[in-house]
Amino acid sequence: MYAGIDIGGTNIKAIIANREGAILASSKDRTPKTAEEINETIIGLLRKMLEKKGFRISALKSIGIGAAGAIDGKKGIIITSPNIEAWKNYPLAPVIEKKTGVRVFLENDATAAVIGEWWTGHGKKFKNWVMLTLGTGIGGGAVIDNKVYTGQSGSSLEIGHLTIDYKGKQCPCGNRGCFERYASATALVETIKAKLKKRSSSLLMRMKTEALSARMVFEEANKGDMLAREALEEVGFFLGVGLAGLVNIFNPEAIIIGGGLSHAHRYLLPVAKKVVQERALPGLKDNVKYLIIKNEDKTPALGAAKVGIDSLGL
Ligand SMILES: [Zn+2]
Repeated sequence: MYAGIDIGGTNIKAIIANREGAILASSKDRTPKTAEEINETIIGLLRKMLEKKGFRISALKSIGIGAAGAIDGKKGIIITSPNIEAWKNYPLAPVIEKKTGVRVFLENDATAAVIGEWWTGHGKKFKNWVMLTLGTGIGGGAVIDNKVYTGQSGSSLEIGHLTIDYKGKQCPCGNRGCFERYASATALVETIKAKLKKRSSSLLMRMKTEALSARMVFEEANKGDMLAREALEEVGFFLGVGLAGLVNIFNPEAIIIGGGLSHAHRYLLPVAKKVVQERALPGLKDNVKYLIIKNEDKTPALGAAKVGIDSLGL
């Protein structure tokens, strides 16, 4: 048995899988604040799942962990993390290894998600594909000739920081006009807020502006709210602009989309696909399949488990 852990800013998700990628157990808990509490949550989740099956932690062959941030996979250190302030040069893998007696391997969460999709999701069917996770920001990665591409530094592709407008909106990364400032869940909320300032004929007007979320926007769009639909179309346009660039670079067989905003795909994708058709090069844009990630909730943890399996070299 192999464990996979996905540590996000909000939740820690854990799975136990076999070597073939079948999920034997899964569980999740809120992400606590301190490094020590995070360690205890990880171990608690593993214990709970294993005990239900009559096993101890020592029954695990490996624990793979996917976490957001700059990672030194070889040493198992989290250099910095955007979501978890407690982690600064934190030796997460060695600490968990010491506490459990099980080998622990660390990977960037976006790369773990790509590995999970490559192992058990739509990615199995293609040799060349790109994945995007549309959440607070935009993460992602690429598989080239059936290998997960990790670049020189072993990190994932920072698709969210692809410049789509050189004079555009300021991004926390220091650059201007980054893709994720226009086509993430955060961007959708900003877009609708800007529209609400100008117009009042929306059901979203009755909600407090501070409380607006991407989910509310597509719930209202489903009910027929025109302003919500307009905002989604605008985000869909920018998604298409970014995708056109990715199609020109990677010539992928498929683009696989995940993240919270992917739930609005029925609004976003028709617009985005049209923009790709208008902007990407002939021969590259044809025959691209657009798919939604298969098991959003568990794919990153599965990918982390796979990192453990492969690192053991079994
Ligand atoms: Zn940026």
